[in-house]
Amino acid sequence: MGSFSLVSAAARRLEGKVALITGGASGIGESTARIFSKHGAKVVIADIQDELGHSICKELSPQSSSFVHCDVTKETEVENAVNHAVSKYGKLDIMFNNAGIAGAAKLNILDTTKAEFEQVVSVNLVGAFLGTKHAARVMIPARKGSIITTASTSSIIGGGATNGYTSSKHGVVGLMRNTAVELGQFGIRVNCVSPYAIATPLLKDFLTQLDTNKISNIFSSLKGEVLKPEDVAEAALYLGSDESKYVSGHNLVIDGGFTILNTGFC
Ligand code: NAD
Repeated sequence: MGSFSLVSAAARRLEGKVALITGGASGIGESTARIFSKHGAKVVIADIQDELGHSICKELSPQSSSFVHCDVTKETEVENAVNHAVSKYGKLDIMFNNAGIAGAAKLNILDTTKAEFEQVVSVNLVGAFLGTKHAARVMIPARKGSIITTASTSSIIGGGATNGYTSSKHGVVGLMRNTAVELGQFGIRVNCVSPYAIATPLLKDFLTQLDTNKISNIFSSLKGEVLKPEDVAEAALYLGSDESKYVSGHNLVIDGGFTILNTGFC
């Protein structure tokens, strides 16, 4: 019994679509690859973790999923990943710029080196720029497409992350808003998803570098509940599907109300 049987044919929301997911070998990207696949999409996982990426594709189905090595900071590799999706499945409908890193957990600008700042911006923001650019290159002639980037609640508030991380996530929302305007005329929608803390290797690595008081502060704001990668994958499913055909230029926040609670007066 393959994973396709879990969702009936009528309920497959991405039937016939082709999706490329950067950072698809772990966490949010992996979960999205699984959910997109269940919903009938052909999925290309692009990541620097080759072994993990290949094994997920093997599990999904070799006919409908494929792995390509891609470091999102390198333009030739992003270009190649997009070309891989098109040559394998004939087109690209959904680009999910999801690869990201937290970087060294230094919460003080005086401790942060230029190289540390640039590394986070390079993966999280420049990577999303390259993914958006090369997806647009093949989506413009097709006159359709959905580009989604994983931002973060760090795209709308400060604190709880490094200055480089927060800058990069504010940056991807700016990139998304500008390209939504640029690409709308070609029928291409551009959006972000902005999760709060999700239990993935990225968050675990970051938190193990911090002291335990800070960790409990982060989780207490969700009353002990931690979001799951699937909670973000479901939002990406909506933005990738035709159900969101009039949604563009939007930053969809998935935080259980965290940012509202922390910016409101009640
Ligand atoms: P994760 O570590 O589980 O997955 C990230 C993936 O990105 C990994 O597979 C990793 O190999 C890949 N990656 C890292 N650098 C790369 C590069 N240069 N090129 C290609 N792939 C690369 O973490 P995650 O939490 O699933 O992170 C996914 C996205 O979600 C990131 O953009 C992250 O900033 C964002 N996010 C995470 C959280 C959280 O709490 N986990 C919250 C908000 C936003």
